[in-house]
Amino acid sequence: MVKPIYIAGEWKNGRGGLRATTFPADGSINADIATANADDVEEAVQAADKAWRDPSWRHRLPHERAAILYKVADLVAARATTLAALQTRDNGKPLTETMALVMSAAGTARYFAAACETLDESLPSQRSHDYITASVYEPLGVVVAITPWNSPIASEMQKIAPALAAGNAVIVKPAEATPLAALELARLFEEAGLPKGLLSVLPGRGSVVGEALARHPKVRKIAFTGGTSTGRRLAGIAAEKLIPISLELGGKSPTIVLEDADIEMAARGVCYGIFSSAGQACIAGARLFVHHNIYEPFMARLLELTRGLRVGHPEQPGIHMGSLINMAHLESVAGFVERAGADGGTILCGGKRLTGKTETCDYDAGCFYAPTIISGLSNSSYVCQEEIFGPVLVVLPFDNEADLVAQANDSMFGLAAGIWTENFRRGWRLARTLDTGTVWLNTYKKFSVSAPFGGFKESGLGREKGRAGVREYMQQKSIYVGLSDEPNNWSA
Ligand code: ADP
Repeated sequence: MVKPIYIAGEWKNGRGGLRATTFPADGSINADIATANADDVEEAVQAADKAWRDPSWRHRLPHERAAILYKVADLVAARATTLAALQTRDNGKPLTETMALVMSAAGTARYFAAACETLDESLPSQRSHDYITASVYEPLGVVVAITPWNSPIASEMQKIAPALAAGNAVIVKPAEATPLAALELARLFEEAGLPKGLLSVLPGRGSVVGEALARHPKVRKIAFTGGTSTGRRLAGIAAEKLIPISLELGGKSPTIVLEDADIEMAARGVCYGIFSSAGQACIAGARLFVHHNIYEPFMARLLELTRGLRVGHPEQPGIHMGSLINMAHLESVAGFVERAGADGGTILCGGKRLTGKTETCDYDAGCFYAPTIISGLSNSSYVCQEEIFGPVLVVLPFDNEADLVAQANDSMFGLAAGIWTENFRRGWRLARTLDTGTVWLNTYKKFSVSAPFGGFKESGLGREKGRAGVREYMQQKSIYVGLSDEPNNWSA
């Protein structure tokens, strides 16, 4: 059955042709989506531009705008099981993970509803008795949100909620592989009473639909999460148009285990940091630096944990890793591992596609790759510098802290880092020296919607989340109000 898309408040077939979304765990078809084309982009943008300017939205009081987001938060939470199942079908992640993403989306909607209600404007310090000045914020207008396949619903809500809270209209271009959660989210916004035109969801090809949206003159902001090369291309478009862009891009995050770390805590944290989501996370802790003094016992425990991970059908309870997103991606991951071998690396565990069958999973039908740990490479090697986006960890022993910091920071990326130590003061000092937008100290992959998230260096530009996250979707305006009863005497 053909699945319609959400163009300017209407459910209809896009004009960009049919595209099937498949379940990566067994290749079965989830839905045939009637994707968007350039005409649909035009229709959605024109409607969005009208909708955000409409006084019925523009003049709606903040708490009334917030009410829609609160309602959506409740609807997302109430339908969590269905939404998680839908997302698992789209990207093959285990249900526990997709459930966490759904609940995170509900929390994000609620947080930005509260931010919307409580955002202050200000009177700067006054410099004259003749006039007063006010500093107010206006929406940007039409915002396009372009999202990747690894964390749908959470990434989409992270853009839609602050953009709407700030008074904009939003057009979402979900990843080709994972349009289902975004389409379902649009249904919930519709049910919550969002006026037509303020939200469109246009699945389709990035190079066609995403690019047409980004280039459209009426689009006034691009909020992007995805690969660094696409981000760079979109930044070029934003530069030509002189519009703001926020970019959440790739990573090659270092995780550091100091010699005084609690081995059990660190090994479990490192294992989770790289292998959850089968490593398909921009924040995956993909480079592991371990102090020589504890290398042996630490690696023994990490290997034991890794070998014990259950890779299986993502709808089965109790599994740690599901399928990779598709075969092309699995081949890319396998290619990196081959390259590591050719560069002199030793594969300590994994290093292969899983084949055959278990009682609950037919590995041959899906894209399952074993969690893999590689040693014997240097930080400058290809696989330590490039993002693999899969379940592959490279381990690098170190002796000296200054050298460690130099290596950890020797990366074009700067998204996140982890530190494991029992010495809090040392950990804090180290955290301040790392060139990354997030540092986790004795934990990993924890997220709070109130803590801004974004990258240093080629991992991104701008921050999402946090109260200031709403401001990323607004522009500041100064208003001067004259107080003098006397006319301006310049022309006298
Ligand atoms: P990933 O490697 O995570 O798939 P991409 O950067 O290729 O990262 O994709 C992230 C999102 O960007 C997807 O929604 C994709 O369709 C979109 N996209 C890809 N190419 C372009 C482009 N040239 N212009 C706009 N969006 C694009």
